[in-house]
Amino acid sequence: MKFETLAIHKGNLITDKNRPVVQPITLSTTFEHGNEGGMLYTRAGNPNRIALEEVIAALEKGEDAAAFSSGNAAGTAVYQALEPGSHIIAPDDMYHGLHNSMVQLFTGIHEVSFVDMSDLEAVKSAIRPNTRLFWVETPSNPLLKITDIRAISVLAKNQGAILACDNTFATPVFQNPLLLGADVVMHSSTKYFGGHSDILGGALVTKEKNDFWTKIRTVQRVGGAVPSPTDCYWLARSIRTLAYRMKGHAEHALILAEFLLNHPKVEQVFYPGLKSHKNHEIAASQMSGFGGIVSFMVKGGAEEADRVVSRLHFFMNATSLGGVESLIERRAAVEGPDTLTPPNLLRVSVGLEHTDDLLEDLNQALG
Ligand SMILES: *Cc1c(COP(=O)(O)O)cnc(C)c1O
Repeated sequence: MKFETLAIHKGNLITDKNRPVVQPITLSTTFEHGNEGGMLYTRAGNPNRIALEEVIAALEKGEDAAAFSSGNAAGTAVYQALEPGSHIIAPDDMYHGLHNSMVQLFTGIHEVSFVDMSDLEAVKSAIRPNTRLFWVETPSNPLLKITDIRAISVLAKNQGAILACDNTFATPVFQNPLLLGADVVMHSSTKYFGGHSDILGGALVTKEKNDFWTKIRTVQRVGGAVPSPTDCYWLARSIRTLAYRMKGHAEHALILAEFLLNHPKVEQVFYPGLKSHKNHEIAASQMSGFGGIVSFMVKGGAEEADRVVSRLHFFMNATSLGGVESLIERRAAVEGPDTLTPPNLLRVSVGLEHTDDLLEDLNQALG
């Protein structure tokens, strides 16, 4: 089955004799012992979560998937599943919340080196005897850096380490890290999977059901950061339109990026779909589309960037991304004083509004 077909037909475990077209929400927290579906207790599994995990595994070309209550819970589960004393190599530009998870929750448990993962030599020289995890995020947040997944997977194999990839920005519509050599894929389902800014969720997908995956499942079941059946239902529902939404997001993002590239008020534009992007070639070799996030730097510093944001009508100044509505945010203001993000950088989650309206709005706000 092709992506669009899988997205609609997987993740639908019809258990009802009346054969409804849409799988109902099973709210029961507990199940009769000895039932045919093998259900026991909802933290360990329920029909809606299993349906969601099946569709996500199929779309990412993995053997199995585990759904979590947030993207952060999913990412943190990977760090929890490592042996204590492990060394992690992570990107210098990565989702702020998971950077915080590594620093705030695992200090004294694991060691972490933050390196520019688009620089292979820098990654190589960061390897230590106890390196157990290469954590990749490509395209990265918020600088849209591109990491060569195939090249990092060679380093990880030589080291006997796990390669995990945060695939939130690309989505499986445009990038399948497991086919490029990654062992585990992570998603914040809050973003494009949900797609309407109304569900918090996360997921991990594994290439194979190995010992590390058994540990991840233990963290999920025993740690208990699991999504509710209702959240799983809404996510499975949203995933049915994922392919079409992503095509729209990527088409709109390229139009906006090209507009910004030619605007005199704009200092620099970051979008992997632009030929001028430093690693456009690598992006094109591992992605079939470039996603819906564009970052740009406004001439005149942070104050001028804030002024642009305040003049916009269709781009709400809010955190998060991946919804049908356009959002904009000056990331440095959110990430705090020790961030590497330029103070005048605006990150745009390009929505599915008509691009004529979006361009007109940007044009008047840039002045
Ligand atoms: C939002 C996000 C996360 C964290 O997900 P939550 O659902 O907010 O916990 C992780 N990685 C990336 C790239 C994200 O955008």
